[in-house]
Formats: sequence, C-alpha cells, structure tokens
Amino acid sequence: TMAEVGWIGLGNMGGPMAANLVKAGHNVRGFDLSPRAVAAAEAAGVQAVASIAEAVAGADVVFTMLPKGEHSRAVYLEPDGILAHASMDTLLIDSSTIDIESAQTLHDAAAAERFRFVDAPVSGGMSGAQAGTLTFMVGGAEDAVADAAVFIEPMAGNVIPTGGPTTGQAAKICNNLMLFINLAATAEGAVLADRLGLDKQVFWDIASVSSGDSWALRTWYPVPGVVETAASNNDFEPTFTTELANKDINLAIAAARDTGTPLEIGEHVQQLFARLIDAGQAGKDCSMIVKLVDGSLQG
Ligand code: NAD
Repeated sequence: TMAEVGWIGLGNMGGPMAANLVKAGHNVRGFDLSPRAVAAAEAAGVQAVASIAEAVAGADVVFTMLPKGEHSRAVYLEPDGILAHASMDTLLIDSSTIDIESAQTLHDAAAAERFRFVDAPVSGGMSGAQAGTLTFMVGGAEDAVADAAVFIEPMAGNVIPTGGPTTGQAAKICNNLMLFINLAATAEGAVLADRLGLDKQVFWDIASVSSGDSWALRTWYPVPGVVETAASNNDFEPTFTTELANKDINLAIAAARDTGTPLEIGEHVQQLFARLIDAGQAGKDCSMIVKLVDGSLQG
C-alpha cells in the first residue's frame, strides 16, 4: 500500500534511493540544501519541498541520507528539525553512515520524545542505490526494526537486523574499513599488472574469478573501460567522495582506538585519502586513490 514518505538528503545515494520509493508507488516529499540534488530528485518523481517541516508533515516514515554525524544531529535535533516537527507515530530511519556516538545521541533524543528511531546505514554504492539492491544494516528496538524493513524493501537486496541501537553503524564502519583497504589493494594490483604488460581486461577477468576478487574490484575498478559502474570511466566524478571515504575510515580508526585494536593497514589507507584531500581532490571519487599509485596526480 502507498505510504507517505519524508526524505532529507537527496545526494548521490539519497536521490536514487528516494526514486526507488517513488517507483514502488509511495508519495515522497524530499528536502535538500542543494538545488541540483533537488532538481534531479524531482525529475525522478520526488515532490520537492522547501523545509524539513514540510517533508515530515503527515509522513508514515522519514528517511535521512546525510553526509556526517554533524548533519544528522542538526537535521534531527535543531529547532527546525525532524523531532520538532514530525508526529510521534512517524517511524524515523537514519541511513547516513555516522559515528556511533552521534547515532546514540539520536536514539536517546528520539526515545526521550517517544519516537521510534532506527540506525540503518547501507552498503552497495551508487550503483546499488540505483538498482535497488542495497544491503541495509538496521539497529534499534525489535519492533521498530521490523517495521522499518517494510519501508526499506524497495531499495534493498538485503535487510539485516544487527541488534540494538547503533549496531547498524558499528557493522557499517567495519564493512567500510574492509572496503577501502580492498580498494587500495585493487589500485595497487591494477597498476602493477599494467606495468608488467598485462592487458587490463585480461587481468580483471582473472582477478574477478581468483583470490584477488572483491566488491571494490567488481564495482569500482579504478582503471577506465573495464567495469561499467566505475567512476574511473567518468573522470572520477564522484559516486563516493574522497571526503566521505576519509570520514568512514576515520570512524573505524576512532572505534579502534576506543577498543585498543591495531588497524595498521586501515591507518595507512587513511593517509592515502589525506594525501588526495591535500591535493584538492576531496570532492572527487575515492577510487582516485589509483593516481597515487600510478603517480599521475598533479599538485
Ligand atoms: P552526498 O554528499 O552525495 O549527499 C548528501 C546530501 O545531503 C547532499 O545533497 C547535501 O546537500 C545534503 N545535505 C547536507 N546537509 C543537509 C541538511 N542540513 N539538510 C538537507 N540536506 C542536507 O553523499 P552520499 O554519497 O549520498 O552519502 C550520504 C551518506 O551515505 C553518507 O553518510 C555516506 O557515507 C553514506 N554512503 C555513501 C555511499 C556512496 O557510495 N556514495 C554508499 C553507502 C553509504
């Protein structure tokens, strides 16, 4: 049955995710600070509104898909935000990848005002968002998690309950640590294969059915002309910005410090992202890490 959906954050992920809820027959009211993001969502059938209050009015469910913890906290907690304007029976779902402390703050604030809230970050990249095949990892009270799964379904290939509040974020942070290490490994293997005279397609065909395989290899191959979904085909226009990749790996590093866990490789990959950011590439796709391996990055 048709639901009323409020959606805040219509960027690389939120835009195509909201579009899949429209395709499923729901009425989606979307808000974003970026006119470009709003225009793209409107073209996909999202009803553009000018404030959070308008997006959440009368909604059965509200999704947020924002860059960082500070943005989620602002959008939920500020006087013009979700908690101030939503009705208490609206289910609240934050699909942004944020730090565990911010997620806990949102769970606490929502619970204090008797809202049902889940943390539900996603994996699968922009191509998975477009295809409606994302993996959602959902943390919170059992009944809220079960209700969230129904609304999430048109956007998802997998919906996996992770346990209590903030466990979705915990799963996501560990997953992305592995993703970005795999991405760096893929970049090193790809450049070395090229220098050893291997054809790029032949090497990819081998690695993708061999022990060097990974999601990063199959979805984000950093050499152009091999994998259709890769930003390398498109001058590294972002599907996942270096800025947000650096955010995620820093979330893992912070969590590792809290738990006394050595992340030697993760810390090294963070330094690679820091170098890209210093070179002015924060807004480009994180697979641009390959340019630190092949030496082609200028500046
Ligand atoms: P993005 O930067 O493309 O989109 C974020 C959107 O939020 C932007 O359009 C921005 O204008 C909007 N925004 C920021 N503050 C706002 C506010 N106060 N009110 C309304 N809108 C606001 O980022 P993205 O790639 O879509 O990522 C969103 C989240 O999903 C991040 O936490 C990211 O780490 C995570 N994620 C990204 C990917 C990916 O492949 N890009 C995959 C999985 C998870």
